[in-house]
Amino acid sequence: MSTGYFSHRSKLYLTDLFNGLVTANHILHNKDVVDGYGHISVRNPDAPDDAFFMAHAIAPALVSSQADIVQYSIATGEPLEKSDETKSNFIERYIHSEIYKKFPGVNCVVHSHAPEVLPFSINHVPLKAPVHTSAFLGKLSFCFASFSAWQLAPIALPFYKDGLLNVIRGRTGTDTPVWDIGSTYSSGDPHDMLVRSKKLGGALAQCFAKPATSVNFIRTKLTETITGTHNGPSTTPDFPVVLMRGHGFTVAGPGIEETVYMAIYTVQAAKIQTSALLLSNAYFAGKIEGNVDSDNGGKIKNGTIKNPKEPHYLSGREVKDATEAIWNTAQRPWQLWKREVECLPLYVNACSSEGEEGG
Ligand SMILES: [Zn+2]
Repeated sequence: MSTGYFSHRSKLYLTDLFNGLVTANHILHNKDVVDGYGHISVRNPDAPDDAFFMAHAIAPALVSSQADIVQYSIATGEPLEKSDETKSNFIERYIHSEIYKKFPGVNCVVHSHAPEVLPFSINHVPLKAPVHTSAFLGKLSFCFASFSAWQLAPIALPFYKDGLLNVIRGRTGTDTPVWDIGSTYSSGDPHDMLVRSKKLGGALAQCFAKPATSVNFIRTKLTETITGTHNGPSTTPDFPVVLMRGHGFTVAGPGIEETVYMAIYTVQAAKIQTSALLLSNAYFAGKIEGNVDSDNGGKIKNGTIKNPKEPHYLSGREVKDATEAIWNTAQRPWQLWKREVECLPLYVNACSSEGEEGG
């Protein structure tokens, strides 16, 4: 028996895991997170350091049985079973293997090319946490420590003035990182934007951690000094979502349900933020405050042109509290999304789930 990755269950049979993985493929397609492309994987709870499961290279909507699921090596990204080597495997399976390798606390990975998110990967507009259901996008690991930013303020201000003030004032959460594959290519690599090697997958996985800046170094040292702890390398990502320039995005989470939730609500967040920015531009851009000289070709006289205003994103405190609140209810939408795909004839799930209730 396995223990594991549906976080609201204490025990899990592998049959349940496969059933959940097939359902997750269907949900991601039904919610337009994936189309013919995109994939989801889950760590093998019986060999957590060595293996993960994902479908071989077929469209997510058509994954239907255990025969479609392949066990891959975390070390190499290659199939563990000889019989699976003849199947076509996703070129980008190294996204999954390298994230599992770097973060032992990650048990599920989703990769998507959702078009609503893609503009944020190419135009330098940061994807933030616009609403509470997407608060995880604004995750500030600093805020997730067991002490409050207020307690830290007198000590940390000289070292981390701007960043800390943003947290204290509740200005904003973090920007979602964007990984540029172009910075990792060797001249001999195909420049096709695909994560087709361990080297490229490793570079993407690195973006889920805070960059090794001097500010982050000081922040870590401050945290260790104040809490009396000395932390090794983090087992969980600092960011649950990383955008990939001109390609898509990847989500890394603690379980299937949570990761599917974050993938769906990353797309929702992109839609909401885009709408907010367009609305702001439509409403504010070009508005003139002051006098216009109508006799002189409409030139502005004693006036100014108003600029669009930045949307009011979630504050650091709101990011923290909303993420905790939503996390406690992630089962609710999962049950709805599961029922939706069960009712649609396109989706077939032939994996048994007899262990589900017994676990
Ligand atoms: Zn891709």
